[in-house]
Amino acid sequence: MTQIAEPSAAMASPTGGAVVGHWIGGRLVPGTSGRRGPVYNPATGQLAREVDFASTAEVDAAVAAAKAAFPAWRATSLSKRTDILFRIRNLVEANRRELAAILTAEHGKVPSDALGEIARGLENLEFACGVPSLLKGGFSEQVSGGIDVYQIRQPLGVVAGITPFNFPAMVPMWMFANAIACGNTFVLKPSEKDPSASLFMAELLRQAGVPDGVFNVIQGDKVAVDRILEHPDIAAVSFVGSTPIARYIYETGTRNGKRVQALGGAKNHMVLLPDADLDMAADAAVSAAYGSSGERCMAISVVVAVGDVADPFIEAVKARLPKIKVGPGTDPEAQMGPLITRQHLERVASFLDRSREQGAEVVCDGRDHPLHRESDGFFLGVSLIDRVTPDMDSYRNEIFGPVLEVVRVKTYDEAVRLVNENPYGNGTAIFTRDGGAARQFQFEAQAGMVGINVPIPVPVAYYSFGGWKGSLFGDLHMYGPEGLQFYTKAKVVTARWPDPGTSKVDLGFPRTR
Ligand code: NAD
Repeated sequence: MTQIAEPSAAMASPTGGAVVGHWIGGRLVPGTSGRRGPVYNPATGQLAREVDFASTAEVDAAVAAAKAAFPAWRATSLSKRTDILFRIRNLVEANRRELAAILTAEHGKVPSDALGEIARGLENLEFACGVPSLLKGGFSEQVSGGIDVYQIRQPLGVVAGITPFNFPAMVPMWMFANAIACGNTFVLKPSEKDPSASLFMAELLRQAGVPDGVFNVIQGDKVAVDRILEHPDIAAVSFVGSTPIARYIYETGTRNGKRVQALGGAKNHMVLLPDADLDMAADAAVSAAYGSSGERCMAISVVVAVGDVADPFIEAVKARLPKIKVGPGTDPEAQMGPLITRQHLERVASFLDRSREQGAEVVCDGRDHPLHRESDGFFLGVSLIDRVTPDMDSYRNEIFGPVLEVVRVKTYDEAVRLVNENPYGNGTAIFTRDGGAARQFQFEAQAGMVGINVPIPVPVAYYSFGGWKGSLFGDLHMYGPEGLQFYTKAKVVTARWPDPGTSKVDLGFPRTR
């Protein structure tokens, strides 16, 4: 287990003290709106600092800085941009422990998990370092006499990213790595619940040589988001968060003429067939359900147990639960930290009573954990609910906490129907030894990311990430090749050079033959 330093020293410089401000035009800018929100240390329950909430004028200042930086940045050579991206990658790598400490202090995730988040973010920076080859267009010589056609991809201009609390470093990297690699300038609106990582990254980007105004951070709430959605100088918006807000972002942004990709919530089902390797499946379900306290959009929240596998599976999971060490990130033994806020903790816990009242069996209740009862931190132990049915509230909602539900079904077809009828379609997984069944599942599962004996199938950075149905509004998935497509627009050039004697007046529609 990795031990990390107390984050206060690391955070003192980037945040500039007790109030987290904005980053505009290459420097830290304190907020002036007079509106602020609380930032807690979830492991102690204490107010750790405050964060400024931007006014529309402050959003406008960030967009103006990004707009002013765009012409020079898009004209910066690919090799120079790549050089800077390499340096960002190396600085994030070199400072990963400090960044992890900030994540632990404000999000609550344990250091090993925080370092895992940063490692997955680094993959996106590494992918973006390949931008010279990734942006290569096509060229067709001699489409007609003396005429060539070629396609280039050009940046959009100022683009914005609005990000959730659960990955304060990785999700911004999903967005800004490709966005700036393609020559756009960027305005980030991080979650107000854990805002400091954004400023730490801004400082690293500055050190890497990113010119002033290319990367900006605006802290805030709905006021800032709404200004981003209506701002005439913002060409595109990437969003990751809950489904109701994702739908709102998509509808409002597109109505205002912007390109939008809006990733929403999830309810990821793991289908467990009777022939699966039970130990492997139980290890996977426990890791994927309770890692990061279940606050992952790719967490497994429902196991659909087919046939007679449910009883031995429940036993296998029960045997693993007492070994999970819940605790603050400062405890090197801790595997699972607190939830993000007390309000969220209470919402998650409320599903336990409701599922019991509605007929489910609460096999393990996270409220029995001593830290839940004794600590001021937002701790909840692990919960396991058996005999859940699709009409129950706990099944119908995204819980986003350390709660694993088991639905018992008789057949594979019933299991697939549950996956496909669910309004979310982020990820799903099947556990089996039967290659034919796995292939059939891959063919018919209505979800954007499928795992075969892999519980959290988050694609590597050279593929793209995205769900179906209520888990994504928009056409293009995030990062990887589709991310590059999102942050660029195509231009096709048809070119001919003066060739004496071949020119004549012709009012007909141009033909190639
Ligand atoms: P959230 O939707 O509450 O907030 C996301 C962002 O939207 C934040 O920056 C927040 O400030 C802003 N926001 C919140 N309410 C708003 C409003 N009314 N108007 C305008 N902006 C608003 O999400 P969260 O609680 O921060 O994150 C957890 C959610 O994100 C879960 O639903 C999770 O599944 C989802 N998520 C999805 C993915 C994915 O890739 N699909 C990844 C991570 C998280």
